[in-house]
Amino acid sequence: MAGEIDRRPAFPVLLRRHDLCHRADRDRRDVEAVHPYRPGAPVRAALDELVTRRLRQGAAVPGFTCYGADTALAVVAAAEQVGAPVILLVAPSTAAAAGGSRLIRALRGIADDAAVEVCVQLDHAKDEPVIRDAIAAGVDSVLADGSHLPFAANAEFVRRVVSFAEGAGVVVEAELGSVPGAEDQAAEQDADAVGKTDPALVRPFLDAGGARLLACGVGNVHGRYRGTPEIDWPRLERIRVAAGAVPLVLHGASGLPVEDLEAAPAVGIGKVNVNTELRTEMLAAAEKNLGPCRAAGEDMLTYTEALRQAAVRVATEVLALTSAAPDKRSTTRTA
Ligand SMILES: [Zn+2]
Repeated sequence: MAGEIDRRPAFPVLLRRHDLCHRADRDRRDVEAVHPYRPGAPVRAALDELVTRRLRQGAAVPGFTCYGADTALAVVAAAEQVGAPVILLVAPSTAAAAGGSRLIRALRGIADDAAVEVCVQLDHAKDEPVIRDAIAAGVDSVLADGSHLPFAANAEFVRRVVSFAEGAGVVVEAELGSVPGAEDQAAEQDADAVGKTDPALVRPFLDAGGARLLACGVGNVHGRYRGTPEIDWPRLERIRVAAGAVPLVLHGASGLPVEDLEAAPAVGIGKVNVNTELRTEMLAAAEKNLGPCRAAGEDMLTYTEALRQAAVRVATEVLALTSAAPDKRSTTRTA
């Protein structure tokens, strides 16, 4: 695996002067015009730098869980349509499954070919071998998730991942506190059931672990919300102050009210993770189209296109919400 790491292009290749988004902002409708890097070396954004830059613009970068290359193609098409950067998330269950490394390589290729900045991230990784394989396959970033561990063990796990990931140019996100629910299941979750992030632990955790992005638990859940989601805005503000320049990440953005998503960048959340919403709509499209497509001579083309359109629709909506300049938003809210 070490050999594979060595074959990766030097990282960051990569523009420190990221002007792609500015171009995209200038002319969102002309995707070709914002593709100044083809042909030539792929443009890769360091995730923390990308997120920090977008936060300064009052926007957040959404990440979408991709269970296959088809979802990634749809998400990137949506990002190009909106003219905003995006993150392709790979669940550890997907990465560790048969063909997981090949899927990451495929996503790497899709990301490098995109007309907007696209990062590939291994999500919620708890096992070092899975992380090392994902880095060898070409992810830009890893969520080293030690949130199930006690504080010191979590920080130590993050520090260990940082020690080999950063040398390969891979940005490490960490999670303090915990986000209830499983990433791959949509069971209803009670946000109060599990401990939220303690703001007093944020700075010691970041200093000890060295993560460059921080996922926190502030009333957000994986899967579906039971009742109305209640984001703990005062806690989030205290976390933001403690985190300083380290951008915050909100997992479980599916099902949050529009105004919560729109308000996220104002309180330091520069990355939002979306999974359930995408799965729900794609599976609904599958259900609706399966019978008719079978009846129409096993029409695979129409079937896959219906799923693609469902994914594009969801991704476009989220991208539009999280990427719009604050003065273009339907609602405003302060913490
Ligand atoms: Zn998550």
